[in-house]
Amino acid sequence: VVEALGIHKSYGSLEVLKGVDLRVRPGEVTCLLGPSGSGKSTLLRCLNHLERVDAGTVRIDGELVGYRVKGDKVYELPKREVAHQRRNVGMVFQRFNLFPHMTVVQNVIEAPTRVLGQSKAEARERARELLAQVGLADKAQAYPVQLSGGQQQRVAIARALAMQPKLMLFDEPTSALDPELVGEVLDVMRRLADGGMTMVVVTHEIGFAREVGDTVVFLDGGVVVEEGTPADVLSRPQHERTRSFLSKVL
Ligand code: ATP
Ligand code: MG
Repeated sequence: VVEALGIHKSYGSLEVLKGVDLRVRPGEVTCLLGPSGSGKSTLLRCLNHLERVDAGTVRIDGELVGYRVKGDKVYELPKREVAHQRRNVGMVFQRFNLFPHMTVVQNVIEAPTRVLGQSKAEARERARELLAQVGLADKAQAYPVQLSGGQQQRVAIARALAMQPKLMLFDEPTSALDPELVGEVLDVMRRLADGGMTMVVVTHEIGFAREVGDTVVFLDGGVVVEEGTPADVLSRPQHERTRSFLSKVL
């Protein structure tokens, strides 16, 4: 599904990504690990063109994301075409950023009715299924402030799924949660993975990466230091930087 090649990204003189490759096959879960500031969020944002890349290409199902090549020139796509591409990609952040003035069900049906042109009835029906899937069937009429962080994050996942994405990106979805709420969100993500969703997950939850990840990618200093199966990277890391990172988070 995803093929990112040679991604370079700088902020001013700070080179954050120094030629990163990332491949995610359909139905696979890739967990992205790395120290703070290593460029994990930046890489995730490059995948759906929330950031412009300085060099390199991102393709999703073969389609170049954010740009068009004409002859030997590269053009950035107009906003509406980028928005169109982003429909395929669901994103869940550390902060749940639900619309506070809307109920749970309104949050979930907003994009599919406005962007996909689904009827309200159709979108509500689908929202009911999605809320059941994330264990919140009884919270459809609640407002975000009435929910725990874990519940809000599960609504955020349901809202992203309502757009029927091909790919889900998660950026530390549990790191703002109280410890006792982490498990319920990881369980929802695990079920999503079991259901065949293609996912890229930035996380410090090593247990999740080990059990759910097909591939673990360790990023440090803007490069992929090591990647492989969870067993290889997490249990038999080849590089000192990976070992040292793991000894801190485990
Ligand atoms: P964390 O684990 O703390 O979330 P990260 O691996 O996600 O870290 P990034 O958020 O990708 O790291 O940031 C990588 C580097 O780029 C950091 O040094 C950060 O300060 C810098 N950076 C990120 N976004 C911007 C921006 N919009 N402008 C300038 N610098 C930025
Ligand atoms: Mg980050």
